[in-house]
Amino acid sequence: MSVTGRLAPTPSGRLHLGNVTAFGCAWLSARSSGGRLLLRIEDVDSGRARADVEASILEDLRWLGLHWDERTAPQRDRDYEPWLTRLADRTYRCTCTRAELAGLGAYPGRCRDAGHTEGAVRFRLPDGEVDVVDRARGHRRVDPATFGDPVLRRRDGVFAYNLAVVVDDLVDGVTEVVRGADLLDYTAVQVRLWEALGATPPTWLHAPLILGPDGRKLSKSHGSAEIGAWREAGRTARDVWRLVLPWLGIEGTDDLEEAALRFDPRAIPAGPITTG
Ligand code: GLU
Ligand code: ZN
Repeated sequence: MSVTGRLAPTPSGRLHLGNVTAFGCAWLSARSSGGRLLLRIEDVDSGRARADVEASILEDLRWLGLHWDERTAPQRDRDYEPWLTRLADRTYRCTCTRAELAGLGAYPGRCRDAGHTEGAVRFRLPDGEVDVVDRARGHRRVDPATFGDPVLRRRDGVFAYNLAVVVDDLVDGVTEVVRGADLLDYTAVQVRLWEALGATPPTWLHAPLILGPDGRKLSKSHGSAEIGAWREAGRTARDVWRLVLPWLGIEGTDDLEEAALRFDPRAIPAGPITTG
């Protein structure tokens, strides 16, 4: 079966070096295997999504040379209700308030047997560790209970990313998920959702986490790491790739096509990588 990967940006913040590392990794992986690459906008949380940010992300991706083969429906145009119905015997309603949950860490499943008829919809995680297989890091045993039963639909009716990303990858026929290492352990929860939907999970590959000079995960507060800032400063896409490709284990080239020929997931450093 041929490989289908995806770029799945969330239009809540502009593209920065951390996203570029993950998206570059997804692009290289799909290209190096002769696979297809989809683009999907992850705007299920419409309160955080912004149209101008979405446009800037697409512009940055093109400027970087990260072209996709096909654009699939954005999350705002999808209906997740039937999928929730399919999971009905694995879910329950949770009425815990934010204040009640504060300080508890992972959700302890307090409402599992309460029989509530309103509130957020949570997925009842089966017991046991998951063998998360990452193409760069190998096997890793993770207990999804460290995250607690995930919310699939919030109390306000908004479907959660947790459900949307799994359903979308399933519907879109995605066979490999490549993304940032911040989601590495959370993969265990998603594997459980794939299983509950009766489907075979995709393969997983997590690109190193990129930290700012302050040692924190790159975010909006690190303006100089934004690709827009690079472009405005007169830098080229090759300048970006000269910096980023070594973070994906590829030295001595700033050319994406050349990099695809040399791409090897096992050469990707575990990270995290701190930017200067
Ligand atoms: N939309 C997520 C992000 O922008 C990626 C989710 C995923 O790749 O599974 O970080
Ligand atoms: Zn609860």
